[in-house]
Amino acid sequence: MAKLLMGKEVSARIKNELREETEKLKARGINPGLAVIIVGEDPASQVYVRNKERACEECGIYSEKYALPEETTQEELLRLIDELNHKECISGILVQLPVPKHIDEKTVIEAIDPKKDVDAFHPVNVGKIMVGNYDFVPCTPAGVMELIKESGVDVSGKECVVVGRSNIVGKPQAMLLLHQNGTVTICHSRTKDLAEKTKRADILVAAVGIPNFIKGDMIKEGAVVIDVGINRMPDKKLCGDVEFETAEKVAGAITPVPGGVGPMTVAMLMKNTVRAAMVNKSR
Ligand code: NAD
Repeated sequence: MAKLLMGKEVSARIKNELREETEKLKARGINPGLAVIIVGEDPASQVYVRNKERACEECGIYSEKYALPEETTQEELLRLIDELNHKECISGILVQLPVPKHIDEKTVIEAIDPKKDVDAFHPVNVGKIMVGNYDFVPCTPAGVMELIKESGVDVSGKECVVVGRSNIVGKPQAMLLLHQNGTVTICHSRTKDLAEKTKRADILVAAVGIPNFIKGDMIKEGAVVIDVGINRMPDKKLCGDVEFETAEKVAGAITPVPGGVGPMTVAMLMKNTVRAAMVNKSR
């Protein structure tokens, strides 16, 4: 039976530690604050934003929410970001993605001051991750690294296979594994004979966005399997990218969906916000 990597519990522990850290920082006059901007009515985004607000409360982090209507222009959004870039009480800025189609995501990301970019999507922060000298780590891949640590498996020298090459998960995930001396393979939609690659993995990270895509027979006996996927099924239930029933019989450790990577992402956002308060204080 595979060890269950309970992100819910690990994230609660991290948030408790952050609350203590935040109290100490406040005593020194450093006040972490997060601004979350959401444009439009996407229901999944609304849930994510609510979770982020709640996490701020749990960690003693000041937060501001800007819920803008769907028809907000790019100029209006950029103006708000500029205002927040200069706002003293705000150390971290997050624009919930996706933004409506008439707004250019890249322009929005690049408008955020890199020192307040707690999602670590700005090219400056992406570059810093590449060279291994960074303030902020993208939240989901950082959460995955915490769960791998929780498995007790040392990444160094291990075969690590990441399925998915998106800018927010797959690519930074591969870099973080590499920084911990893993031997990393990135697989994607054009990869040939995927199962042959995934079956080599001591550590397998699935970030594909296809429900139950990775089956038990694609997994090496005893592997650490991290399921980043969040797929909403027709019955409204959440489903991962890994077929849990077959995978847990083979894996050494595995994350559930929900309750695995999801809560870790939010905890890592809180960590970045606290870090941002220190980074902004020292500039
Ligand atoms: P994406 O759609 O940007 O990328 C999906 C990746 O999967 C692509 O790089 C593509 O090459 C690869 N892919 C598609 N079909 C494939 C195939 N047949 N074989 C191999 N690779 C294939 O998605 P994303 O933003 O990286 O998100 C991936 C999943 O993770 C989604 O389910 C998303 O909801 C979830 N997600 C979860 C969190 C979290 O907090 N837990 C955060 C971000 C994303």
